[in-house]
Amino acid sequence: MKPKTIALDGPAASGKSTVGLKIAKALNYLFFDTGVMYRAVAWAALNKGIDPKDEVAVTTLAEETPIDVRPASQNDGRTSDVLVNEQDITWQTRSPEVDANVSTVAAYAGVRAALSKQQRRIGERGNVVMVGRDIGTVVLPEADLKIYLDASAEERARRRYDEIIARGELADYTEILAKVKQRDHIDSTRDVAPLRPADDAVIVNSDKLDADQVFQMIMDMCA
Ligand code: C5P
Repeated sequence: MKPKTIALDGPAASGKSTVGLKIAKALNYLFFDTGVMYRAVAWAALNKGIDPKDEVAVTTLAEETPIDVRPASQNDGRTSDVLVNEQDITWQTRSPEVDANVSTVAAYAGVRAALSKQQRRIGERGNVVMVGRDIGTVVLPEADLKIYLDASAEERARRRYDEIIARGELADYTEILAKVKQRDHIDSTRDVAPLRPADDAVIVNSDKLDADQVFQMIMDMCA
């Protein structure tokens, strides 16, 4: 039977968003990348001059800031629109400053409680592909299909490096690899909702697979 809710988790740059969006389009489901909400909180803190290490201030901010995630309104490579107080901050959430601070704010219990609640409300409506770190374990533990998309840190850093070079920008592979490993470490060792596969998740390692092959593999599980 076709799964109504699909949870797609995995570490940074494992290709979750690319594959998740393709699956959502193929099934005519909502695509919801939960990482953008944590990115929005990190951006809002930096934008207001709040120290990301200030747990109390960041938590209050997460509880009070209206964050909206909508289907992409522009064809500029985005997978969704991200709005804070109705301001489109989609590309700001991809900045190196946000990359460097997002895992810190995502480790706060209060931030996670505020965001998970909103995510669950959307997920429980069904017909959704929800992408993140803790969807199968915490946000939607009853999801019909749970996938944990993995790849080695080296392969994920190489893909990130290739993306940046393809955009005509400069990139340093060693630096990217170090940052990927640092984010993995924070995400998988935090006390609340650490990155890990759910007991009933199907683990897909994409080291030797391209996005189309991963997509096909998951579509076969939905048939
Ligand atoms: O998926 P993405 O790399 O955009 O996520 C950014 C960060 O948000 C992750 O490194 C992680 O710290 C946090 N995150 C999370 N739980 C989720 C989604 C993202 O903690 N469900």
